[in-house]
Amino acid sequence: MERSLLKVPVTPAAIGAFLCLLGVLYQTHELGHHFFGGIVCGRLGAISLSTYTSAEGCLRLPDLLTELFGPLISLMIAYAAAARLRAKPSLAAFGCIFASYFHLRWIPPLLGGGDELDVMRKLGHDSGFIVAVALFMLGLPPVIVAWRAVLSSGRAVRIGLAYALPLPFLWYVDALAAGVSGSQAILPGLERIQVLHVPLLILILDIALVFGFAALGRRARRSCANDAGRQFSG
Ligand SMILES: [Zn+2]
Repeated sequence: MERSLLKVPVTPAAIGAFLCLLGVLYQTHELGHHFFGGIVCGRLGAISLSTYTSAEGCLRLPDLLTELFGPLISLMIAYAAAARLRAKPSLAAFGCIFASYFHLRWIPPLLGGGDELDVMRKLGHDSGFIVAVALFMLGLPPVIVAWRAVLSSGRAVRIGLAYALPLPFLWYVDALAAGVSGSQAILPGLERIQVLHVPLLILILDIALVFGFAALGRRARRSCANDAGRQFSG
């Protein structure tokens, strides 16, 4: 039986849904660090929109494991989404592969940053290039699955856009974090209200992103279905 391929829409709703999903999965990574650290270190540390800090006094091994847990979550999301996409065409799975931004984790080590390079440095190895090559190779299989799952018409543009779309967000996320709960907080004082050491503003933003993804994702899928209907009738 011939395998059905996915049509990836490039519409404002689809791009908006993708950006909401990117925000949700970025936060899943940070909250993963935060709560895993709470378990293995014995108490919760601190978290902003773009960073986490292990609890003071956390031992070396739990601290290293906590730092690795964020990338592990991003990897699991990308590979689980790829497995789902191999089984069945799914816009959500396609979006998760790229919104996990695991395919872009090779860039921070080249610039001297990222969880993985930091862990390697703590273990006495300081080669950003080797870490970047390893992460690039690890990030490639889900992207190849996405490439094979998409209709060939306009495929390079759609995959290229999905590949690069997280970059501006990742570039500006620290500035965004400063505005939400950091030094230039838009609503100063509110960042002190916390639930499980997570600023309430971050939780509100996360919930808004989930609702944004649900609403825009539904609209993107509907426009896809309408297009298919038009092609069928025309
Ligand atoms: Zn991280």
